[in-house]
Amino acid sequence: MPNNVSFLDSVNRYFDAAAPFTDLPEGLLKQIKVCNSVYQVYFPVKINGEVKVIEAYRAQHSHHRSPTKGGIRYSNHVNQEEVVALATLMSYKCAIVDVPFGGAKGGVRINPWEYSESDLEKITRRYTTELIRRKFIGPAIDVPAPDYGTGSREMAWIYDTYRSFHGDDINAAGCVTGKPVNQNGVRGRTEATGRGVFYGIREACNQKDLMDKLGLSLGIEGKTMVVQGLGNVGAHTATISQDEGGVKIIGVSEVEGAIYSKDGFDIHEVMRHRQEHGSILSFPGVQTFGKEDRRAVMEFECDILVPAALENQIDRDNAPNVKAKIIAEAANGPVTADGAEILAKKGVVVIPDIYLNAGGVTVSYFEWLKNLSHMRFGRLEKRFDEGAYRRIIEQIEQTTGKTVSERDKQMIVRGADEIDLVRSGLEETMITGFQGIYELYREKEGINDLRTAAFALAISKISNDYIALGIWP
Ligand code: NAD
Repeated sequence: MPNNVSFLDSVNRYFDAAAPFTDLPEGLLKQIKVCNSVYQVYFPVKINGEVKVIEAYRAQHSHHRSPTKGGIRYSNHVNQEEVVALATLMSYKCAIVDVPFGGAKGGVRINPWEYSESDLEKITRRYTTELIRRKFIGPAIDVPAPDYGTGSREMAWIYDTYRSFHGDDINAAGCVTGKPVNQNGVRGRTEATGRGVFYGIREACNQKDLMDKLGLSLGIEGKTMVVQGLGNVGAHTATISQDEGGVKIIGVSEVEGAIYSKDGFDIHEVMRHRQEHGSILSFPGVQTFGKEDRRAVMEFECDILVPAALENQIDRDNAPNVKAKIIAEAANGPVTADGAEILAKKGVVVIPDIYLNAGGVTVSYFEWLKNLSHMRFGRLEKRFDEGAYRRIIEQIEQTTGKTVSERDKQMIVRGADEIDLVRSGLEETMITGFQGIYELYREKEGINDLRTAAFALAISKISNDYIALGIWP
């Protein structure tokens, strides 16, 4: 028997474990499970005078809703199976948080850190052109976003390339999300996945029965946290958890190694140190683990472990040594199906990726809506709300004969800006998403973990679409 299952096998095993709780016919389950289409392409790019052949993919897992949506990953490990697994998770993720998209994912098999900025631009623009050619991108077709190894810079290149082919499409900006704010992006998209991870962990920590089961106190404040990967998702999860949740960060890892201190450290200082010195390992006053031992981070003693780098980080080899009480899957697929079985037996609570990192796609949805409406959120109502709040305060002042200081008044009357609305929409989405999963977990006999509940919820929601649309008899 192979030592550990593949990422896609894990995803399918999670699906199979949840399917019996949905009471759906086998054919419909199969339709929901399979990946609807995959585009594989090789294209040439001239780099330093030499032609390099680049391998790339775009997978659209489910067309039950349009457009499809999902990030683009730049990594040496990209292959068809990985892209399909990630696209599959996207379908379930969108269903759980009620974002009206099918799931998709793209991947380019390169190590982005080995290329110059102008080479990356060439590769990104050429990849986009291939997608346009095959109609695998467009505001009503398929809308990419950032993922591992890509960010707002790449999204701006994609938008610009799409626009140059579709100059007459007034909604062209909706062809990709995660764009820079001054390029039709939305405020709060960069932090969205990490912020959503924080809201999701906080919601789990607010469940008394769950915390009692783990022997932990109620609430996120004061909990200890360890984070793997300080990229977009990991860095925002760690900083927001520390600054807004009162969490104590006691361990982190990056490509160069891992650090641990049971007394904790300021995550901003660690990140600043890494930026200045190129490594976390020289950070003062901590225990260090070199590159070869960086996976030790998975076995650090803590309340909450946040894998925020890549898939397959906890498998059946290291799962027995995990000491965390909660595993918060900020990355996609960080725990293999074998690892998950071991963790369940140990009583570890896993908050699953298909819910927990859905903040990115949620705010991407807001960005897409902003692009289609051609207007910044809050523009219409901000001043109106401020006037109304001011009149309410003035009425209260008149009735009570007391005055509110101008400073307090300014704070109370402030109308919502785009960032306030985006964060509020994200918070609402993450809380509602958790409640949906938790209700099923508590009430459906036989469901013993949050992941099975999350998959069952997603499958049921997608099946409703198939049935309502008459796609399924
Ligand atoms: P990123 O490229 O910004 O960051 C990844 C970080 O992990 C990098 O800093 C990298 O150096 C580090 N890393 C790589 N290998 C490591 C290792 N073995 N040990 C420790 N650190 C390591 O990527 P990201 O966007 O933060 O994505 C991280 C994960 O979150 C991925 O699984 C991705 O699919 C998932 N995700 C991302 C988003 C998003 O909005 N960016 C949304 C949902 C899910």
